[in-house]
Amino acid sequence: MLLRNLRISGSDGALVDILPVNGVIASIAPATGRPAGRDFEGRWVSPGLWDNHVHFSQWALMQQRLDVSTAGSAREAAAMVARALETAPAEGTPFVGYGFRDALWPDVPDVRLLDEAGGERPVALVSGDIHAVWLNSAALSLFGHAGHPTGLLVEEPAFAVTKRLGTVADDVLDRWAAQAAQAAAARGVVGIVDLEMDWNLDTWSRRIAAGNRSLRVEFGIYAQHLERAIALGLRTGDRVNDLLTVGPLKLISDGSLNTRTAYCFDEYPGREGQENSRGLLTLPPEQLLPLMRRGAEAGILPTVHAIGDHANALALDAFAEIGIGGRIEHAQLLAERDLARFAELGVVASVQPDHALDDRDVADRLWAGRTDRAFAIRSLLDAGATLAMGSDAPVSPLDPWTTVAAAVTRNRGVREPWHPEQRIGLADALAASTRSTVAVGQVADLVVTDVDPLGVDDVRGLPVAATLLAGGLTHGAE
Ligand SMILES: [Zn+2]
Repeated sequence: MLLRNLRISGSDGALVDILPVNGVIASIAPATGRPAGRDFEGRWVSPGLWDNHVHFSQWALMQQRLDVSTAGSAREAAAMVARALETAPAEGTPFVGYGFRDALWPDVPDVRLLDEAGGERPVALVSGDIHAVWLNSAALSLFGHAGHPTGLLVEEPAFAVTKRLGTVADDVLDRWAAQAAQAAAARGVVGIVDLEMDWNLDTWSRRIAAGNRSLRVEFGIYAQHLERAIALGLRTGDRVNDLLTVGPLKLISDGSLNTRTAYCFDEYPGREGQENSRGLLTLPPEQLLPLMRRGAEAGILPTVHAIGDHANALALDAFAEIGIGGRIEHAQLLAERDLARFAELGVVASVQPDHALDDRDVADRLWAGRTDRAFAIRSLLDAGATLAMGSDAPVSPLDPWTTVAAAVTRNRGVREPWHPEQRIGLADALAASTRSTVAVGQVADLVVTDVDPLGVDDVRGLPVAATLLAGGLTHGAE
């Protein structure tokens, strides 16, 4: 299909016609006004967007759940459920909400309120701290708590229910994944790196065979599946089919900032002298190196989750020792001397700029005095590092415009930008969220917008008119 009357993002705005052949841009020529193909009426075209770090099944699951975090009372939360149920398809599964915080509510969660809202369909609301679950009568019966007086379960019984809520039959989850993939395509996404902790080869082969063709998928392999992957001869970069590619070996070497388990050179404030006061190294070098080496020798290149500065230093040491490149996921806190090593060693920095805005207050407290090296995306870029940006969905929304905006603005809403010296330019941020350009010979993965994204101050929520994958529309068909 000839794509007519487009303006290439960043150009002078001359109208062109783009002809994809076999998924590749075969020609770009001045617009002729011929009636063939599809007329984009002067809209702007950019390379399709990638999200370089997602947990797709979790994201798909989350998309089916109702956010009740804004409810100011139990009655209000129940009303939100009732409203949502009016349009929610009857899936034969419990209706799930999440995020309620009842500590300051004037009333209390009660089974009768949810019975009025949910009727016969089982309803489960998971609290914001995930330590409580509020159920209606149908859900209490389903989960073996029939007759419970309040419907509010806490701690162990709540965890048991939450676990079962997360266990969904493959066919249901695949259907939800297809919806989530379509929603991503509607935001201009053409590809994801799926780091779901799962045997992703089978999951995605099944989904794609069933017709979920909205996205390209590069899938991660976890350490517990490494031997299985090697036995099958999987190698990073190998195509499984036209949409599915073998991704990296995912290794998790430390914890996270919020739980004070990110492994750092300095102690966490208030934890001085205690056990694990510098965080937790979950894969010390004597375990990390053999795993990386085993993967690398079989052609499965490692990507190492490292959040604290010491974990990052050790991961870089490991890449140096083995003499291969790869990726580091997160790279949230970095020692000054390690910035240049990403480029030197050929290690891509896979970063999630939106996390900086979620975590800025926590970082100011737990990494006090060192936040000039936290989420230091500009410093990485200046040091020559290649950036790959992502959302870590469901931690942040699977929407690269949100990711790009966070990197460019370092603020959200009304607050002052956090460490604005770490802002990067829009073109750099978009480059870290794309894998191609709009040029002859490039893959015809494209996003079409009413305005040129490069001319927009804040690209959050930017409307997307159409998305093309290998030259075919995945979003925006009439
Ligand atoms: Zn992740």
